[in-house]
Amino acid sequence: ASSATDSKELRAKLVLLGDSGVGKSCIVLRFVRGQFDPTSKVTVGASFLSQTLALEDSTIVKFEIWDTAGQERYAALAPLYYRGAAAAIVVYDITSPESFSKAQYWVKELQKHGSPGIVMVLVGNKADLHENRSVSLQDAKEYAEKNNMFFIETSAKTADNINQLFEEIAKRLPRPTE
Ligand code: GDP
Ligand code: MG
Repeated sequence: ASSATDSKELRAKLVLLGDSGVGKSCIVLRFVRGQFDPTSKVTVGASFLSQTLALEDSTIVKFEIWDTAGQERYAALAPLYYRGAAAAIVVYDITSPESFSKAQYWVKELQKHGSPGIVMVLVGNKADLHENRSVSLQDAKEYAEKNNMFFIETSAKTADNINQLFEEIAKRLPRPTE
């Protein structure tokens, strides 16, 4: 039987990358605070938040989350945030094909310069705006498969799949060997 003393804590640096306006900050705030603020401010540079998640196997994952700004003028700073990251969430907006192209740019950058073995996740956010969808589920799925990424569509607004996103990342993190 498991008890509190059996639980293992895992710390994981996590970075969010993607075009400005795709909802990175809203995803983080939904996960950390359980809130959605439609008047939230544009991220300047990057912001840091941490949140723990308890898994079924009693592992406790402490995410150290770096939410980056998507603006071009900050692109040169991105390596500071993804360096040493155990996981990266690359976000696009399902209503914006440009943001999907930008996501592919970030995936390539992570493949070239990210930590070996980094857990990469592709997220199509704003799934609540499905009536204005312009990136197909099929295209995103195929792209993610080809690039060895977990893929999920989320809505920070309705909270759809937000916890699942972080749980899936937690499950994929390498466990320290005993
Ligand atoms: P960031 O630049 O990637 O951090 O994007 P923000 O988190 O600042 O969000 C940009 C805009 O998209 C804001 O106006 C949010 O209210 C809106 N937004 C974020 N997530 C969602 C979502 O899941 N659905 C909808 N409809 N709007 C969202
Ligand atoms: Mg932001």
